[in-house]
Amino acid sequence: MLSILRKARLKDKEMRILMLGLDNAGKTTIVKKIMGEDINTVSPTLGFIIKTIDYDGWVIDPTGALSWDVGGQKTLRSYWRNYFEKTDALIWVVDATDRLRIEDCRDELHGLLQEEVRTIPRAILLLVFANKTDVEGCMDEKEILSALELASIRTHRWHVLRCSAMTGRNLKQGLAWVVDDAKSRLFLY
Ligand code: GDP
Repeated sequence: MLSILRKARLKDKEMRILMLGLDNAGKTTIVKKIMGEDINTVSPTLGFIIKTIDYDGWVIDPTGALSWDVGGQKTLRSYWRNYFEKTDALIWVVDATDRLRIEDCRDELHGLLQEEVRTIPRAILLLVFANKTDVEGCMDEKEILSALELASIRTHRWHVLRCSAMTGRNLKQGLAWVVDDAKSRLFLY
């Protein structure tokens, strides 16, 4: 049954990517930049946005980019669960300039992986986008890796990529990477 579903999805060329992170990390801007939209227009999103991205002939649908406010996410959780179960990749966005909240960010990421360990498919890839790297003095990869304690994550494969939603640096590369990884897994079945 599962393999039939997988084949069906492969035929539809549909892939689901969930993008999460603390508020202000740059999730909305990343999605806009990838979509080629004007990143300077501010359209307040309530909690999350769902977008369909056409990438390399693959429809990535939907991308849920959640503004994860530490206080306000409880009611949304049950909604995300539906996504976790079907997600092909998880992108965690970190504001590489925000040293003050990096510990919050670490706790949220580890909390999420622990709490959702049964719903997030183990095989999926966790891409950590270290965003805002156009800003001088931002955290480098080593600092992010250690602050987020990524080495202690045993449940999922992870990879850190420095990016900038402002300049577009590495956004397509990151997307290509998760899409290729998910594609290779889909082809296994
Ligand atoms: P979200 O809450 O995670 O969706 O974050 P937003 O996309 O709304 O971005 C929060 C703020 O960070 C906005 O003022 C953006 O203009 C800014 N921002 C987002 N990405 C970058 C980036 O790569 N570089 C810089 N310098 N600012 C960014």
